[in-house]
Amino acid sequence: MSAADPTHATAQVVGGRLFVVSAPSGAGKTTLCAAVRRHFGDLAYSVSYTTRAPRPGEQHGRDYFFITREEFEAGIANNRWAEWARVHGNLYGTSAQWINDTLLAGKDILLDIDVQGARQMLVRFPQAITIFIRPPSMAVLEARLTGRGTDDAAARALRLANAKAEMAQQDLYRHVVVNDDLGRATRELIALLARHRSKPGPNNR
Ligand code: 5GP
Repeated sequence: MSAADPTHATAQVVGGRLFVVSAPSGAGKTTLCAAVRRHFGDLAYSVSYTTRAPRPGEQHGRDYFFITREEFEAGIANNRWAEWARVHGNLYGTSAQWINDTLLAGKDILLDIDVQGARQMLVRFPQAITIFIRPPSMAVLEARLTGRGTDDAAARALRLANAKAEMAQQDLYRHVVVNDDLGRATRELIALLARHRSKPGPNNR
């Protein structure tokens, strides 16, 4: 991973707000982000680029843009990524162009990225509203990761090690939401976004 190049830093001058959400694997972030996106129909979601293979049911352009390692590395050389990181052995990145265009159009953005990516986004966009979602305890996290059944043992061990490292960095975030109960955590997250959104919309209660 390389830190975002400060010479390409872009101030968040006008327009939309940037919400950066991170969580260790197994904290329930995907479910929570989906609920937030359903609630705020006008919230733009940044679809990341990745070299990871699609999982069953995932769609190119909706869940991720699935690209080759060569394409990804060319993107690094061309400063195409607002941030990028290696996560669980794969590369993930956010389009700088899309972020800039969307913010300039006045839209609020939800970014679901890892801790390394959040650090880089804070260099470019110090006003970003960063939110860390965490499970109530490491024991709960371990149980959720084991119960998920989508990964083999080696992948699970890697996810668990990464989860521990991410939990240790939660102080980087402005807000921490504990996902102890899905309904309660969803309400907390929605209320948090509503407080910070750039303008009240029909769905922005
Ligand atoms: P998954 O492969 O399970 O969809 O995602 C693995 C991890 O990569 C998650 O923590 C997710 O937030 C993170 N991730 C997804 N897209 C990006 C991205 O564009 N940049 C960074 N830094 N992390 C990402």
